[in-house]
Amino acid sequence: MDFELSPAQKDLQTRARALAETHMAPRAAEVDRTEAYPWDHVERLRAAGMIGMTIAKELGGQGLGYLEAVLVIEEMAKHCGASARIVVETNMGAIGAILKYGTPAQRKLAAELVLSGDKPAICITEPQAGSAATEMTTRADKRGDVYILNGRKHWITGFILVRHPQLNTPKGLIIGKREPALGLRGIPESELIFDNLEVPVEMLLVPPRGLRHGFADLMDAYNGQRVGAATVALGLAQGAYEKAVTYANRREQFGRPIAEFQGLQWMMADMSIALEASRALIWKAALSAPPGGFPDAVLAARAKILAADTAIKVTNDALQIWGAAGYSRDNPLERYLRDARMFTIAGGTAQVLRTFVASSILGRKLPQTRDGYLTVGDEIGRPDLRRDKQSSRAKART
Ligand code: FAD
Repeated sequence: MDFELSPAQKDLQTRARALAETHMAPRAAEVDRTEAYPWDHVERLRAAGMIGMTIAKELGGQGLGYLEAVLVIEEMAKHCGASARIVVETNMGAIGAILKYGTPAQRKLAAELVLSGDKPAICITEPQAGSAATEMTTRADKRGDVYILNGRKHWITGFILVRHPQLNTPKGLIIGKREPALGLRGIPESELIFDNLEVPVEMLLVPPRGLRHGFADLMDAYNGQRVGAATVALGLAQGAYEKAVTYANRREQFGRPIAEFQGLQWMMADMSIALEASRALIWKAALSAPPGGFPDAVLAARAKILAADTAIKVTNDALQIWGAAGYSRDNPLERYLRDARMFTIAGGTAQVLRTFVASSILGRKLPQTRDGYLTVGDEIGRPDLRRDKQSSRAKART
């Protein structure tokens, strides 16, 4: 596999690095402290053409691939995780699903919104449906030319409905409590309540295989999101590692730079190995996406698993190398460590993704429910199945 970047890719990487160092780095601590969405960073990214760069040229984007997005995301995350997540959300995930499966009108609308700085959301998680996403209870009932949505979501990152008048909102859309997150505090996660929310039928996204496979097809779009999330984790780890190496060369104890102690040398060697391995998996996953498609599911899962574990370990070790100075809230490393913590949870937990990888190795589905494996397509829209499942669970408990 050829990992040599083209001149255009190197140029993009250099421009992203300069933007992150000049504009994102100085504001990153403030964004974390105030927990305010960094609209100024959105505007900088938009002006630099880094928002919606994977959107096709005919829709106003640049038609770039996942690897280009990954190069930008890593540079942002080295200094500001929130800015990196903005690049993820405006190039991968929900926008990818709409661009791939949407009608021409839906694609045009989504592209316009994203290119003007909006940030779409995927609203799956519910209080009782986390990893077991198919257990969601939110309903969409068709009434004439609208769907009536009722349900409760939580931990939803950003949302697009409120910002567009055509969608007949905000009536019926209640933005509940903001989740008091440990890290990446510039990006809000909120509870969303749909209380008879009306969504025009023309907004329904129907993949070519039909609604029966809608959930599985949406999960496919998550592979792009996972590569993006893995890259934010990588960038945070890379940023922390660079700070650790600089400090180890500068800080003296026992009359020598602490970099001369083997205990720290081996820590830095392990950090660099984990970073290189994570980057290689991420680039491989990014390059697996066909034009207009999504990265391979197993490659994306492997990349996210390794990068997420690496981010926690490397940011923690970097803080260790700084000693008490790293433990101080005046030092950005405690923020890097908090920011790194989300990636083994959001977008498929470390455990669930490992089960998915194992299932691909073994060549069969691995049952996770007491009643056996529920085929997603069978579950959606089949209340009879849901009732059967619930009653057999109740029996199992008694
Ligand atoms: P649970 O599913 O309750 O899991 C709890 C623990 O049990 C975990 O350690 C898990 O790995 C383990 N576990 C569960 N099932 C298994 C199993 N079968 N095998 C082994 N271990 C298992 N959701 C959205 O829909 N949209 C968003 O935009 C979004 N953004 C998020 C942003 C952040 C910062 C966070 C933290 C979460 C976000 N989420 C979002 C929710 C996220 O997708 C869920 O948190 C995730 O799916 C896990 O669900 P849960 O938190 O309910 O954990």
